Amino acid sequence: MASVSVFSIAARRLEGKVALITGGASGIGERTARLFSKHGAKVVIADIHDNLAQSVCKDLDPKSASFVHCDVTKETEVENAVNTTVAKYGKLDIMFNNAGIVGVAKLNILDVEKGEFEQVINVNLIGVFLGTKHAARVMIPNRRGSIITTASVASTMGGCSPHAYTSSKHAVLGLTRNTAVELGRYGIRVNCVSPYLVSTPLAKNFLKMDDKGFNSVYSNLKGEVLKPEDVAEAVLYLGSDDSKYVSGHNLIVDGGFSIVNSGFC
Ligand code: NAD
Repeated sequence: MASVSVFSIAARRLEGKVALITGGASGIGERTARLFSKHGAKVVIADIHDNLAQSVCKDLDPKSASFVHCDVTKETEVENAVNTTVAKYGKLDIMFNNAGIVGVAKLNILDVEKGEFEQVINVNLIGVFLGTKHAARVMIPNRRGSIITTASVASTMGGCSPHAYTSSKHAVLGLTRNTAVELGRYGIRVNCVSPYLVSTPLAKNFLKMDDKGFNSVYSNLKGEVLKPEDVAEAVLYLGSDDSKYVSGHNLIVDGGFSIVNSGFC
């Protein structure tokens, strides 16, 4: 007799759901795409990194994963990513606004060029605004949905990252809270996930460290560096009905880091 355990059915927490993930070609977005797919969701990856995104999709069930080129700073491309998702899979249940950059590693504000600052704001904040706006456009008529934004521990702390990055992540939290209030009346939940340092290409390139160096310097209270899959688990919770009464929340995933540190990382 075929063994289909009750646990394996119950464990598919996104069965029948459709998710769009920006920045899904790498790091936190990629691990989230894989985890969502494992939990039964149809997943669309929206990214500027076409080859990487396509290879992630190839690894997933081709019937349930696809890629759309999308630069989150361009409204027509975000609109197209949302419309393509709905055209392909019939609806959008989960929007994960995750694409982000750190920008130039200048910690002294006198050295920061206006263009460098704007570039980070454009991707990290305008991108999240556009993703939230167009997701809401298609979710409102269905009277349900979960919008998740990736902020950072820099959403509530200073001194952890460059000025533009910290500013963008504080603003992402503000946008999340505002839209949670506004969209709640339509049954749409909006939440933030805020990781501490995670071993992804973004963090390793910024810190110019390989895995070994990264692990030796940056560790959370458990003595380990966060992995992108640790953050993906938190995103799964916010995307699934397990969090059906959670909205406007900033889910910090940092192993307790921000409790014991109030300033410099
Ligand atoms: P990553 O570099 O591994 O992945 C980022 C993805 O975003 C890449 O696939 C990239 O191609 C995509 N992207 C960049 N600009 C884009 C644009 N304009 N349009 C569409 N896609 C774009 O980095 P990551 O660490 O997985 O970062 C994901 C999110 O997590 C970011 O918002 C980042 O700020 C946040 N975050 C990361 C850390 C960390 O330590 N890695 C900590 C806190 C928050």
